[in-house]
Amino acid sequence: MKPIQIAIIGAGASGVFAAHWLLARLGKDIQIDIFEKQLEPLTKVKISGGGRCNVTHQHLPIKVFSSRYPRGQAKLKYNLQYFSSQDMLNWLEKRGVKTKVESDGRIFPITDTSKTIVQTLLDSINSPNCTLHLNTKVEEIHQKEHVFELKIDQNTHYFDYLIIATGGIAVFKDFFNAFDIKKIPFYPSLFSFQIPDPKLRSLMGISLNSVKVRLIGQKLEIQDALLITHWGLSGPALLKLSAFEAERLQQAKYIGKISINWVDTHVEEIKSELFAEKKKPKSIKVKNYKRNQMPQRLLEYLIEKAEIHAESHFHELKDKEINKLAETLTNQVLDFKGKTTYKEEFVSAGGIDLNELTQHYQLMKIPNCYVLGEAVDVDGITGGFNFQHAWSSAYLAAQDIANRIKKTENPMNIQNIV
Ligand SMILES: Cc1cc2nc3c(=O)[nH]c(=O)nc-3n(C[C@H](O)[C@H](O)[C@H](O)COP(=O)(O)OP(=O)(O)OC[C@H]3O[C@@H](n4cnc5c(N)ncnc54)[C@H](O)[C@@H]3O)c2cc1C
Repeated sequence: MKPIQIAIIGAGASGVFAAHWLLARLGKDIQIDIFEKQLEPLTKVKISGGGRCNVTHQHLPIKVFSSRYPRGQAKLKYNLQYFSSQDMLNWLEKRGVKTKVESDGRIFPITDTSKTIVQTLLDSINSPNCTLHLNTKVEEIHQKEHVFELKIDQNTHYFDYLIIATGGIAVFKDFFNAFDIKKIPFYPSLFSFQIPDPKLRSLMGISLNSVKVRLIGQKLEIQDALLITHWGLSGPALLKLSAFEAERLQQAKYIGKISINWVDTHVEEIKSELFAEKKKPKSIKVKNYKRNQMPQRLLEYLIEKAEIHAESHFHELKDKEINKLAETLTNQVLDFKGKTTYKEEFVSAGGIDLNELTQHYQLMKIPNCYVLGEAVDVDGITGGFNFQHAWSSAYLAAQDIANRIKKTENPMNIQNIV
């Protein structure tokens, strides 16, 4: 019997992982062709995590793990039941890849090089039933009588099943439009903020373990570490804010105001501390105020912003000056103008609307066609969450295809990691 022909467009994380699970379940019953327009497969895996590949995030309860996805939380709640970060770690371990968890929960191969992950993924699809076509761009897709036609270099190739794993770029507009598939336009997530305040920028290199940030006029407040850079503000707190407010920020053209609570404490608590100092007959100088080991240069910058002389003693300050200092420490409002990519790390929000997909990433309007990974409207914050979505979406789609081809209703759960 002729094997079932499956095309995968994109040899990125999700495309290659889907091919692996199809081979694992269906073996000789299928022939997979993976088309990759670049000269190499898995290019993003290779450069990811600064060349170390933050392959996933440490295990967390599903509710907590899925909350790390500004878009797609509900989808992840479902996915993680069937393919969690622990399943990915088991899969790697079975292939001899040892991993390590860093203090912030990010997981890397113990070799500290992404080459380990790239090679493991490529080994997992090494089969006569799978052909990887590099430097091969799929230009158009059509579907006629349940057969997918892929146009490549003026030639047409025919397939029974199609997996679109093309990452965060706008592709195949005509194909999706022909079936009236709703797409959310792509827009960036995970970036840092340009702050046009030369005095703040001169503090570059200063980092704080815990600040609170929010956009002015918005309730969402993010608490995490912050880094001052030569262009403004970065670090996990800002990256998370950019992810959860990505849509609003794009609409505002990346111009607006941000509030920083530098001391991660309520304003009233700071006020009572400062007024207590004021009441002391021999109060300290304002510049000697110690709070959570705030770097001296940052403290002096904030004192200046509050229009107070740093050499003044607290008992010399007027009440309104104390109030202003407390306000500046807990709610400094800064203008931002523009965004910057942090360590070249970014992800695209947007993609195929989740309402167009089944639980297993099949397009409801186009049977036998699946869309995975960053090409769908799911994205996570930094920390390995984006790859985890690539792995779990690929797993679910492959299991669904296998169940349909075998006409079985196998549970999606992993019985044996292969
Ligand atoms: C610099 C950087 C570092 C990152 N680091 C991390 C990290 O450490 N941890 C983490 O979780 N996430 C990280 N991410 C995000 C992560 O890389 C992506 O979320 C993930 O790669 C998405 O996988 P994917 O398979 O959906 O798409 P991709 O990995 O983007 O793969 C899509 C593939 O499809 C190919 N393609 C597109 N169109 C066509 C076509 N018409 N024909 C043929 N081929 C086509 C592309 O060339 C590409 O190879 C990083 C992203 C960047 C940019």
